[in-house]
Amino acid sequence: MSKILLYAQVTQDNYIHTILFELAYKAQELADKLTKNCHSEQSEESVCGEGVEIDALLICKTGIAENYKEAFQNSGFDKVYIAEDNRFTHYSTELYSKVALDVINEIKPDIILIGATTQGRDLAPRISAALHTGLTADCTGLDINEKGQLAATRPTFGGKLMATILCKTLPQMATVRPKVFKPAPENIVKNTEFIYIEPQIADIKRKVEFVEFVKITKDSINELDSAKIIVAGGKGMKNEAGFELVRRLAKALGGVVGATRGAVEIGLAPVDIQIGQTGKTVTPKLYVACGISGAIQHLVGMSESDKIVAINCDENAPIFEVCDCGFVGDAFDVIPKLIEGLKK
Ligand SMILES: Cc1cc2nc3c(=O)[nH]c(=O)nc-3n(C[C@H](O)[C@H](O)[C@H](O)COP(=O)(O)OP(=O)(O)OC[C@H]3O[C@@H](n4cnc5c(N)ncnc54)[C@H](O)[C@@H]3O)c2cc1C
Repeated sequence: MSKILLYAQVTQDNYIHTILFELAYKAQELADKLTKNCHSEQSEESVCGEGVEIDALLICKTGIAENYKEAFQNSGFDKVYIAEDNRFTHYSTELYSKVALDVINEIKPDIILIGATTQGRDLAPRISAALHTGLTADCTGLDINEKGQLAATRPTFGGKLMATILCKTLPQMATVRPKVFKPAPENIVKNTEFIYIEPQIADIKRKVEFVEFVKITKDSINELDSAKIIVAGGKGMKNEAGFELVRRLAKALGGVVGATRGAVEIGLAPVDIQIGQTGKTVTPKLYVACGISGAIQHLVGMSESDKIVAINCDENAPIFEVCDCGFVGDAFDVIPKLIEGLKK
């Protein structure tokens, strides 16, 4: 039996981070391919088996795991390993990685998927180093090749190339940024088994002491994550007055504002709202790109949007290759007309 293990991160507000549900749906697809491809060809590194089990690991403070059970049952998990303890109230690299390693060494998953959140980016390399296995970080694509191996794709060479990476050792590990994959459109109901484990953490000498948790509220970031409409401005918006047009269009459409690194670098927008490889990944229903060339590093953060509209004065700008609808023209002329039209 092959196993795919997903890490279920609990947020500071005691929610399960939505990346889990995005990974859970992708894991179903990988499991199906694993089953199919295994019948065709196998290699030494193949993780083929009779069936594929999709499991989760939940590490949380005492008494809250119960709240999440229905979500696990509706997301296609076969087994959920739960470690509850009040020492897990705040994330700790030492404690969490110890629990994760104990579970991994016990159940021996073939694939481990973790969200590339701040927490996941800390936890995943700890685990992979301890297991002497490979980790492909910040993936934008996951697949199973014809030999039954995890094929993890991520941008490389500053985003100029996409590399598909195979791991020679087990478990094969990958982290994936939130919003890169979509959650299941409907429930995948399973009779999930919940297994409580006793955390073996008494002997751990902690090198880091938790002092205080201070929440920084940045509305723009939170809004971008869940926005249905995003109007993003690039370097082509040139100055403060140009970027104000972007804000006005966003307001007229009932959306929020995003930016390219180009716009951030010339001081038109804060880095918090940068979209792309080194910024946020977004998947709104509508993405309006104003004065944005469409560099690959920007596209990786927004190309999964449902509909893309581009405004650019250069008809050869790469953004026109990914957009559904394009305006070739000066954004300083086009945007006011669009706002006017929307008002009407
Ligand atoms: C490692 C690495 C990571 C990166 N990460 C990111 C990232 O996360 N996000 C990101 O965005 N970039 C990122 N970049 C930078 C990226 O390569 C591009 O430089 C950047 O996206 C360009 O931003 P831009 O489209 O605003 O500017 P430009 O590429 O300069 O494009 C401006 C566009 O505006 C158009 N224009 C000019 N005037 C007008 C006008 N009046 N009306 C209409 N159109 C006009 C021009 O035709 C042009 O196409 C990264 C680069 C590297 C190397």
